[in-house]
Amino acid sequence: MDEIIAFCKRRGFVYQGSEIYGGMAGLYDFGPYGVQLLNNIKTEWRRANVQMKQNYVEIDSAIFKMPETWVASGHVGGFADPLSECKKCHTRIRVDKELGKIGVEADEKMSEKELQEIFDVNKANIKCPHCGAKDWTEPKMFNLLVKSNLGDFTGKGETPVYLPGEACQGIYLNYKNIVDTTRVKVPFGVAQIGKAFRNEISPRNFLFRCREFEQADTQYFVRPHENEEAYQKIKQERFDWYVNLGVKAENLRFKQHEHLVFYANDAWDIEYNFPSYGFDEVEGIHDRTDYDLTQHMKFSGVDLNYTDPTTGEKYIPWILETSVGMGRMFLTFLSDAYTVEKVGDNERVVLKLDKRLAPIKAAVFPLLKNKPELVEKAREIYAKLSETMMCEFDDNGNIGKRYRRQDEIGTPACVVVDFDTLDENSPNFGTVAVRDRDTMEQTRVKTEDLEKVL
Ligand code: ATP
Repeated sequence: MDEIIAFCKRRGFVYQGSEIYGGMAGLYDFGPYGVQLLNNIKTEWRRANVQMKQNYVEIDSAIFKMPETWVASGHVGGFADPLSECKKCHTRIRVDKELGKIGVEADEKMSEKELQEIFDVNKANIKCPHCGAKDWTEPKMFNLLVKSNLGDFTGKGETPVYLPGEACQGIYLNYKNIVDTTRVKVPFGVAQIGKAFRNEISPRNFLFRCREFEQADTQYFVRPHENEEAYQKIKQERFDWYVNLGVKAENLRFKQHEHLVFYANDAWDIEYNFPSYGFDEVEGIHDRTDYDLTQHMKFSGVDLNYTDPTTGEKYIPWILETSVGMGRMFLTFLSDAYTVEKVGDNERVVLKLDKRLAPIKAAVFPLLKNKPELVEKAREIYAKLSETMMCEFDDNGNIGKRYRRQDEIGTPACVVVDFDTLDENSPNFGTVAVRDRDTMEQTRVKTEDLEKVL
């Protein structure tokens, strides 16, 4: 993982957030190649979850939401606890629950210092329920929601306006709008890619656990009790999506949640075998019953029942959710594609990304920098190809070095303009050499066919 983090920095994929000021933990900026990869992943996610689904629509909701949203969702009440984290496996425990058993009581107004004095977790000999270790961080009064100072001009309450702890709430808030203004009928899905912010106690593992991240969510609304078959189908589709985009199946697995929240019917994660720390959650797939809409109906007072247009039957739809962090997805595709291989006596780093995900689709080179006619032709081809795909022009250094630079960032094809291209007496006149990233083999392609071939 250290090698991948260094690679991401070196080749302009991912930078530490606010690096010139010393960097901020849990925040990352995507660089020029990173943003292309990220956008391509989003395009493929949208293709599978919106474009190719007849009964799915996409929305993009505002980041700020009425404060009641987070009360209804359970985030306001559910996260303000004194928490300690196992230093070994990062499991968090509510220390008030543990120490309550021996007569130590928490007070909501306690300062962090008072809290830490009263709750000496390490002296209390508490075993981590997950790994059995007894090594805890000092407890912190913790609410995962990030507050903003945006005014709550509704005059309804004193709850601060939070940044979203999860992006999907925007879908629930717009469920009625979507039903009223589009032609969707249950069962239907709503997709969204949106920002989420969490006061993570210990951000770690690069893009895996950040304080600001993007989530790609789908919420599939079904008739009550008609969840099971659809849930199995969605689970498998999501798994297959990663494999279809090149992730090695042996590096992916399903894991069922052992402890379900009280309203959930079932919950599974798709896990990826990350370098250095092994299998961990990339995507959650949750069978959530009618909890979300029921809560918002209760708190907003708006009737969120769905009326079946044929039978007139009224009900609150059940929800099947898929939720994945864009950063975790990015890390999955990048780690899986990152390859170091021997070429003769040398080594090359090659990012074996699926072509659909590659940040740059083609690099165009003149064979030699000091031959104006080659440079001019290469520039002309580059300008033409750039109309339809992300391309790069490179005339710097020997051709081998230029190939290696493109291999490292996963460019599927290098196009070389050489003397034959311009030599009317050559059988290869009017063609360019196209070199394949994975096989390293070259073929000649007519310049007019280039766009189609690529
Ligand atoms: P975890 O158990 O790893 O904290 P979670 O179960 O809290 O994750 P959800 O709330 O279900 O996660 O969020 C859905 C998805 O959002 C996760 O599967 C993950 O891909 C992503 N995600 C959650 N928290 C973070 C984070 N702090 N940084 C980056 N991605 C995250």
